[in-house]
Amino acid sequence: MARPAAVSPCPSCGDLAGRGYPGCRFCAELVDQYWLFDWQELLAAEQLAEGGAGERELAELVLADEVGRHPWTCTDWAMTLVPCSECGAEPGAGPLDCVRCAAAEELRWSWDHAAYPDTMTAGEHALRVARAVLRAPHRRRPAVVRAWRLLLPFLLVGELPTVGQVQRIRAHVLAGGYADLAACTSHVELTGLPELPWRRSARVEHQPKAQRDQDAAGHALQRPAHPRPGQPAADPV
Ligand SMILES: [Zn+2]
Ligand SMILES: [Zn+2]
Repeated sequence: MARPAAVSPCPSCGDLAGRGYPGCRFCAELVDQYWLFDWQELLAAEQLAEGGAGERELAELVLADEVGRHPWTCTDWAMTLVPCSECGAEPGAGPLDCVRCAAAEELRWSWDHAAYPDTMTAGEHALRVARAVLRAPHRRRPAVVRAWRLLLPFLLVGELPTVGQVQRIRAHVLAGGYADLAACTSHVELTGLPELPWRRSARVEHQPKAQRDQDAAGHALQRPAHPRPGQPAADPV
């Protein structure tokens, strides 16, 4: 799958391409093509057409199959085709109190637990997390969502921030620095910002308790099971 060679502005929304995901159509296509490519391969292997009869049945089969049997990109794509039977949203992207969405979310990340780091790279994990977070922003803290939004254009070209860099970006977002961060045109610039003093009070003030608790749970789910010491990794929280 070809990735964009360099980060460039989106001709449609004007932000760095990918950052408008999923609201901007151009950004959405740029990001989703990575997933769609694998899904189209699977469709072709099954001699099915995109949008045709049988596509949804295939998606249901993929979701019912053992974790790791199909590429994670196909699991994610299948989730866009089979709505949650409880709330009707994309599974894992519905309201916080939907039990089925919570189960779908847990199942999705079990792929990463099983695959990382042997059959899934840290960069792929980060890309998967970023897309999932931006498709369900109401399920995460705003600063978490904004940090992934800032990073996504760079993840698309293969850059990978360390956990510390992601945390630093979030701290700057909490400190009101989103516009400055959004003006960074390189990954080095975005991830190279100076450390801010710890702003615990700001974080607590801005977060309703229920959301914090939910977030803590989400964090545990999405952490790769066996990260290698010293290897760059990216967690959503
Ligand atoms: Zn755009
Ligand atoms: Zn649901």
